[in-house]
Amino acid sequence: MGAVKGTVWPVDRKVASPFCDERPPGAEVTLAVIHAISLPPGVFAGDAVERFFSGRLPPAEHPFFAEIMTLRVSAHFFVRRSGETIEFVAPERRAWHAGVSCWRGQSRCNDFSVGIELEGDERTPFSVAQYARLVALLQALRDRFPKLREVVGHCHVAPGRKRDPGPYFQWDWLRRQLTDWEVPTGEV
Ligand SMILES: [Zn+2]
Repeated sequence: MGAVKGTVWPVDRKVASPFCDERPPGAEVTLAVIHAISLPPGVFAGDAVERFFSGRLPPAEHPFFAEIMTLRVSAHFFVRRSGETIEFVAPERRAWHAGVSCWRGQSRCNDFSVGIELEGDERTPFSVAQYARLVALLQALRDRFPKLREVVGHCHVAPGRKRDPGPYFQWDWLRRQLTDWEVPTGEV
């Protein structure tokens, strides 16, 4: 498992994203939001996601890139199919991953959540390496943020607008690994 010096969670590399800012004063991290992304959609290779989150997506390379290049979004972490994990935003800061969102009556989920993107789409099962890294990452984050007790999907905090991580994500398996966390059932 990779580890960048100076971090307590399992991260292989760090790439800086400009799409983040400070969390509001007093905000505590209580929630992890799982996403899925691949660029172009369905392609699990290359470094387009990395360039997208760092504001360097080349619009001429793919029609979809031209469509999304002006979006200013990021996530704290991106877990590739191999399990390799890239940190874009330190979890102490607010990454711009959830957009318009609400959970348990609290809107603006970016304020109080950590965003974890899994390389994938809504039509392909995620890899064993990704699940293993996701659990390790969540457990390490819990050590840093003791009130982090709940994991949901982007689909849960932005229903009707977002469907990721999609029907193949194994919520029931995750719930069995994280016995003292709140994890949704597989029904979305
Ligand atoms: Zn998402």
